[in-house]
Amino acid sequence: MIQGFLQDVTEAHHRQIELWRAAHIDQMTGLANRAYFQSELARQTETNANHLTIAYFDLDLFKDVNDQYGHSAGDDCLVEIGKRLRAQCTETQAFVARLGGDEFAILFFDKNADEIEGLVSSIIESIRQPICLSDGNEVILGVSVGLARYDSDDLTASSEVLRRADLAMYAAKTAGRNAFAWFDLRLDFDRKNAKQLDRDLKLALEQDEFFLVFQPQYNLHDRSLVGFEALLRWHHPTKGLVPPLDFIPIAEANGLIRPIGRWVMTRACEFAKRMHGNTKVAVNVSALQFRDPDFVPFVLERVKSLDLAHGALEIELTENVLLELNPTFQVMIERLRAHGITIAIDDFGTGYSSLGYLSKFPFDVIKIDRSFISDLKSKNSLRILRSIIGMGSSINKKIVVEGIETLE
Ligand code: GH3
Ligand code: MG
Repeated sequence: MIQGFLQDVTEAHHRQIELWRAAHIDQMTGLANRAYFQSELARQTETNANHLTIAYFDLDLFKDVNDQYGHSAGDDCLVEIGKRLRAQCTETQAFVARLGGDEFAILFFDKNADEIEGLVSSIIESIRQPICLSDGNEVILGVSVGLARYDSDDLTASSEVLRRADLAMYAAKTAGRNAFAWFDLRLDFDRKNAKQLDRDLKLALEQDEFFLVFQPQYNLHDRSLVGFEALLRWHHPTKGLVPPLDFIPIAEANGLIRPIGRWVMTRACEFAKRMHGNTKVAVNVSALQFRDPDFVPFVLERVKSLDLAHGALEIELTENVLLELNPTFQVMIERLRAHGITIAIDDFGTGYSSLGYLSKFPFDVIKIDRSFISDLKSKNSLRILRSIIGMGSSINKKIVVEGIETLE
């Protein structure tokens, strides 16, 4: 009898634990889930709450892992990231959670800003280490981290602290990913501004508010005009000229970069046609546009319908497109080149500058970033410039140096 009674209790207890786990624990990683994280955060802010810091993690370009290696490889990565986060926090008072998708969060207790930055930097570093997939492939992931603090005299609600960390995470993404950023009240202002720009941008194409300016490129040997770079400008009806750095990231986030990019390509090709193919026109293409499977057919259709001469159109890609070493990209680049479109590597020398891709990817032109020119008084800049030019010429690439605007 007694034995039977004990068994009942144990079963009921197990059931309770199961129910509790189902409600609080993320099945895939075994970490706390979003609801548990939120309730723990609320509990901490309502009780002792001295110097809490939320770190909000979102993996960088995680969709690409799913696209390239499959969803189950993506799942393996998420499990591995969960393990690494936990391992990084074993000696620290911290509460680790998977909020959902590719988002994780850590609640740190009683740490000053320097300590937090040290901890988060080593977490970013640990996530950056290659992940071995079961099929033998390796994936290298980055993560963007937003940080927000809560102190005991703070009247902010816990949900607001989480929102702030999320907002800071977006700031880290916008600043280039694989880094952390602290919440700052300016981010709220920027976001409101960005929301307004987002709304206005949606109307800009149909209201014909974009225009292109063409920056000339000269041959330094005979000073002849050899080409132009098409640069996009937005004339906002009330704000006037909005800098591309302010609206391009918004257009990338809301998907408008594709129609805008097509508009730019069409106008630039028409301009190239008017130049009778004597000078080339270079067009900037972002990584996002390049991922669009319709991109190459669209460009080829433009070139064909305008009957553009070989060499009249150049496409500028930033290093990060080439760094992905994506075989599909390689095929796309080959196809463009086969139709007489040249490929330039833009902003050379400012990204990770892994030189490996120079021998792997087919391209025609290296564009050296203007920062090397504006800093030309420093001897090192000049030496670096000379060595890039030397390297480029020795592998038979044309070199364009940005930012030379005076005779000197
Ligand atoms: P970003 O750098 O802007 O964060 O780009 P991203 O590709 O990481 O995009 P985002 O964070 O917006 O989307 C996360 C993606 O993670 C969406 C979905 O494809 C993938 N994902 C979400 N949950 C899971 C999951 O449980 N398993 C797998 N394999 N993938 C998931
Ligand atoms: Mg992500």
